[in-house]
Amino acid sequence: MTRIGFLGTGIMGLPMAANIAAAGLDVRAWNRTRARAEPLGERGVEVVDTAREAVAGADVVVTMLADGPAVDEAVAAADLANGQVWVQMSTVGVEWSAALARVAEKAGAVYVDAPVLGTRQPAEAGALVVLASGPDDACERVAPVFDAVGSRTVWVGEAGAGSRLKLAANAWVLSLTNALAESVALTGSLGLDPALFLEAIKGGSMDAPYARVKGTAMIEDRFPPSFPAYLAAKDARLVIEAGGADVDLAGTRAALAHLDAAVDAGFGEEDLGVLFRAVRSNRAT
Ligand code: NAP
Repeated sequence: MTRIGFLGTGIMGLPMAANIAAAGLDVRAWNRTRARAEPLGERGVEVVDTAREAVAGADVVVTMLADGPAVDEAVAAADLANGQVWVQMSTVGVEWSAALARVAEKAGAVYVDAPVLGTRQPAEAGALVVLASGPDDACERVAPVFDAVGSRTVWVGEAGAGSRLKLAANAWVLSLTNALAESVALTGSLGLDPALFLEAIKGGSMDAPYARVKGTAMIEDRFPPSFPAYLAAKDARLVIEAGGADVDLAGTRAALAHLDAAVDAGFGEEDLGVLFRAVRSNRAT
């Protein structure tokens, strides 16, 4: 049985750790706020007090924490061992992925950069898409973990390529959410029932399951967290930074302005669709 050390049991990490244990692997999990990890005790996961305990003796270490600095801090405390495989699944962007690869190299660990597509519900269903990148000989060792958390693994190339593809996917999600918020808000401001917008695009080539889920949340003004707005803002910054001078990421910048306004208004823990409130009230401009 492969032993897994799992660091970070938030919205995504908790169901991922549970699914890895359900697949028959031996999982030890740590979370900074221990209470958040406790439910895993009933799902075949050993919950421990420190990152070091979770990682000691593990064949594979998985990190699923908020951002690059959080991963760096947790892994420094965990003390990776020579020969361990470290699967870094948090969204950390280009620079942090490279910095974390150097941390792994120093420890003699094998670094696999593998962020995921999908949110709370696919994480619970073990149906994420893993954007994996790293050395070829690591594929077999990490396959049981990826099979447990995802429905599909896309091997992208050398370590870091997964994080780059993840940014492209997030640019799409951020712009899509912002565009959706604009159409829903505009429908309402033009004196129409905003649900008519979803009705109008239904079943056509402009429709998307995503528009249906997030658009309904906007119409109902209810945003239970699936992908929290504070993390979406973090990702928008990573996307813009990665685009540099080469790509005009105006859609992502618009989403970020509205996300920042939503976070400033105290909605950071709500789902990213909450940027709708800033679009509707024109609070970001
Ligand atoms: P979350 O529920 O907010 O969890 C964040 C996790 O990071 C928690 O375990 C938190 O610990 C921990 N953390 C934050 N700062 C820390 C620090 N300084 N030291 C140690 N631990 C720290 O977020 P999530 O949605 O699970 O997201 C996790 C990662 O997956 C992020 O990189 C996110 O961008 C990415 N992601 C999220 C989604 C999504 O839809 N939610 C989808 C794809 C990728 P505490 O519990 O103690 O706060």
